[in-house]
Amino acid sequence: MASPSRVGDARWRGALAVLEEMRREPGVTRAVVAQRLGLSSGSATEITARLRDLALLSEAPAAASGRGRPTTVLGPHPDGPLVIAVDLRQEDWRCAVASLDGRPEIVEAGVHSGRGPEQVIGPIAEAVRRVHTRHGRRVRAVGVAVAATVQHGRVVQAATLGWDAVDLGALASGARLPLLIGNDATLAGVAEAREGAAAGAATALHVMIEVGVGGTLVVDGRPVSGATGAGGEFGHLPLGEPGLRCPCGATGCWDLAVDGRAIARHLGEPPPDDPRTYALAAIARTSADAATAAAVGRTAGSFGGGLAGLINALDPDVVTLGGLAQPLRAAATPEFEAALTGGLMRFRRADPPRVVAALLGQDGALHGAALTALDHVLTEAGMNAWTAALRP
Ligand SMILES: [Zn+2]
Repeated sequence: MASPSRVGDARWRGALAVLEEMRREPGVTRAVVAQRLGLSSGSATEITARLRDLALLSEAPAAASGRGRPTTVLGPHPDGPLVIAVDLRQEDWRCAVASLDGRPEIVEAGVHSGRGPEQVIGPIAEAVRRVHTRHGRRVRAVGVAVAATVQHGRVVQAATLGWDAVDLGALASGARLPLLIGNDATLAGVAEAREGAAAGAATALHVMIEVGVGGTLVVDGRPVSGATGAGGEFGHLPLGEPGLRCPCGATGCWDLAVDGRAIARHLGEPPPDDPRTYALAAIARTSADAATAAAVGRTAGSFGGGLAGLINALDPDVVTLGGLAQPLRAAATPEFEAALTGGLMRFRRADPPRVVAALLGQDGALHGAALTALDHVLTEAGMNAWTAALRP
C-alpha cells in the first residue's frame, strides 16, 4: 500500500482518512473510525496495521465496553513524524513540537532582544536547529506563524515589527526542512475552525485583535487567502478614522480604531509603545475610571461596527474572537452589541451568526502552524519522503 510509488492510490487515500480521524480525535477507537468511514472491520484492521508499520499510528487495546468486538484506541506513533511549530509575535517567540495529533508542546521560548530581523530571527533559528538535532529525521517540516503579512509564503510587510520584506529561510534548520509560513491570525483561524470554537462549521470567520486586527475566513478547514496568500488583512479595510495614516501605508485603516492605539487616542494620550499591554491595562480599569470606560466603549463600538460589515460581506456560520477581541467585547458589551446589530443588514438581525470567544487563546496561531506543517507531511510528497526516511 505505502511503497513510495503507490502513496497516491485509493487504498492510501483510505489510510489518510483513518489518519485524519485520529488527528481530529486522538484516542478515538478503531471501531468508531471504521463506522464513520464505512470500512469493514477487516479493512480497518488491515489499514491500521499498515499505518503502524509506517510508524504513523499506534494502537492500544480499548477498555472493554461490555458489548461488541474488542477494539483499539488510535493515537500518534511514538516514533512517528514530528513537526516544529514557531509562533513569532511582536514581543516574543515560542517554539513547539507536535506529532500527528497536532497538539504543540512548547519546548523553547524567548523575548526579542531587539526589533531588527537578525536579532529576532537568529535566536529562533538556533532553537529550531536544536530541536531538529534532538529529534533527527522524525522532524519533517517547520510551520511558522508570524505577526506579518505573508505573500507566496514569504513575509512582505510586518507593520508592528517595523519590517518590510524579510527572509525567514533561516528557520528551516539550514534549509534542510520544508518551511511553511503563515500569518498568525490566519493560522489561529484555521486552528479554531478545525479544533477550536468553530469546529464543525463549514464557513467560519476568525477575527483577532492584538496590535491591529486580522483574521481569516475558513471554508471547510482551509483559509481563504486570495491569489497570493495575503488576504485576510481585515485591519486595513477603511473602517477607521478617515485620513488617519496607518503604518501599512494606507489611510483610515480599521487597525487604528480597535486596539490600544485607539484607546490612547480617545484618552488624548500619545501612541503607546506596546498597544497590547496598554489595551489590557485600560480594559482592566474601566470599572474604576469613567474616561477610560468611555474610550474603551468607543473602541469596542468601532470593533462591533466593522465586524458587522465583515459578516454582511462574508456570511459566516460562526465568528470566533481571538486575542483582545473578546476582552474588548466583554469590557463594553452594550457598545459592542449596539454597533454590531446596527451594522448588520436587516435580514440578518433575526438570525445572526454566533459570535463566540476563541477556544485556543494565545496558542491558536501555534496550533495553526502545527496543523499546516502536518498537512504538508501528509501530502503525497511528504509521505514519500517519510517512507524513504524510515528505511535504514
Ligand atoms: Zn493599514
